[in-house]
Amino acid sequence: MDVSRRDFFKASGAAALTGTALGSLTAVGASFAPTMAHAQALRIQHAKAVPSVCPYCSVGCATLVHTVGGKIVNIEGDPRSPHNEGTLCPKGAAIYQLHVNPNRPTKVLHRAPGATDWEAWDLERAVTRVAELIKKTRDETFIERLENGTPVNCTTSIFSLGGATLDNEWNHIHQKLMRGLGIVAIENQARI
Ligand code: SF4
Repeated sequence: MDVSRRDFFKASGAAALTGTALGSLTAVGASFAPTMAHAQALRIQHAKAVPSVCPYCSVGCATLVHTVGGKIVNIEGDPRSPHNEGTLCPKGAAIYQLHVNPNRPTKVLHRAPGATDWEAWDLERAVTRVAELIKKTRDETFIERLENGTPVNCTTSIFSLGGATLDNEWNHIHQKLMRGLGIVAIENQARI
């Protein structure tokens, strides 16, 4: 079909709904179904599909992870799921980038107090430093009893904030570690 420039911009309201220029063209009647279906088929033609779950929130949308030769080539909603029926929200639709993303930092970056530049540390050095600081802070701030004698055995000077991509097993062990240290301020966006 013919789509004029005027038609395209008139339909930009619809684009706000879909968030894409593709949305504008769809709103004026252009059909991309055959092209998109073909591109989709090519993308995962020789891929192995592994069921998984989006880690970002408690909705727990089901996903299919496509791999070729052990490498992830695509992640999308699983149409067999009764609650997300193949769909993913924008955040979930970007989980591919958790795994394949050239901009993702792969080293620990440390900026010393007062410094202007970041320094790359190896993981062991960073973990050792974190452990040193946790022990020092805990030793300095640990409260065994309140003034009225009630035992509390905690420190309120350390706060634990977890990420959405931590899974059940990680969170279980993390809770045990934090509680064992007497840390009571624990929050995590992941709820699955
Ligand atoms: S972040 Fe989005 S895709 Fe992921 S589980 Fe939540 S609603 Fe589903």
